[in-house]
Amino acid sequence: MTQVWRGLHLGRAPMEMTDLPVGLRRRLATALPPGLALGATSVNDAGDTTKWLWALPDGPAVETVLMHYPDRATVCVSTQAGCAMACGFCATGQAGFRRHLSAGEIVEQVVRARRAALPRRLSNVVFMGMGEPLANYRPTWAAVERLHGDLAISARHITVSTVGLVPGIRRLATERLPVNLAVSLHAANDALRDELVPVNRRWPLGLLMEACQAWTEAKGRRLSFEWALIDGINDRSADAIELADLARPLAAHVNLIP
Ligand code: SF4
Repeated sequence: MTQVWRGLHLGRAPMEMTDLPVGLRRRLATALPPGLALGATSVNDAGDTTKWLWALPDGPAVETVLMHYPDRATVCVSTQAGCAMACGFCATGQAGFRRHLSAGEIVEQVVRARRAALPRRLSNVVFMGMGEPLANYRPTWAAVERLHGDLAISARHITVSTVGLVPGIRRLATERLPVNLAVSLHAANDALRDELVPVNRRWPLGLLMEACQAWTEAKGRRLSFEWALIDGINDRSADAIELADLARPLAAHVNLIP
């Protein structure tokens, strides 16, 4: 069992687990088909970013992105096929929700990426692909536990993102493992955020910042605000001042996404 588990986490297909008898390998190959079938691969011009489109067995597609750095790599994984959050600037949100991913489907993205990253070490995992991780809480957290416990990727190198699901952030604050939290903010006043990020109408900025504060106090980990720059909408001086007013009290890092 240990050999099978290790082989799977190394990204080996059952027939590649040569430390097992061949009969067992054949049986495993039949019993454990891959959860993700490769649909398409694209590599950027610089050659440092690889994007995979996977087909799930029941039809929907999800994306995984591997980013190479000189001595390590980071993978960005999806937690849902599609997304129900309907953010106005996001193609996934406009296409709607298909289904939640299982913990196994999330972990498999990391396992595949880890193998593809070699000889670089896959050091970081960010839950920032398709879907809202905290809307698929249990499988997302189960995946975090497996990455930390079975793949030896430290929770400190795992970042869970959210568009601002306050109950999920409060629940994260109670978890044992110290992951990082990235809040996709994109606007620092309720009028604009209501437009860009509809979930803000349910959990406006006041409630969101309170939850961020509670999380920061409970975990002592790095909080970051993600900010996709939209020309003339959220890239003005006034936006920067409002953003700074939210980020400063929480000592939050700000990642501007061009
Ligand atoms: S939560 Fe993320 S994936 Fe979902 S619609 Fe918003 S930006 Fe897109």
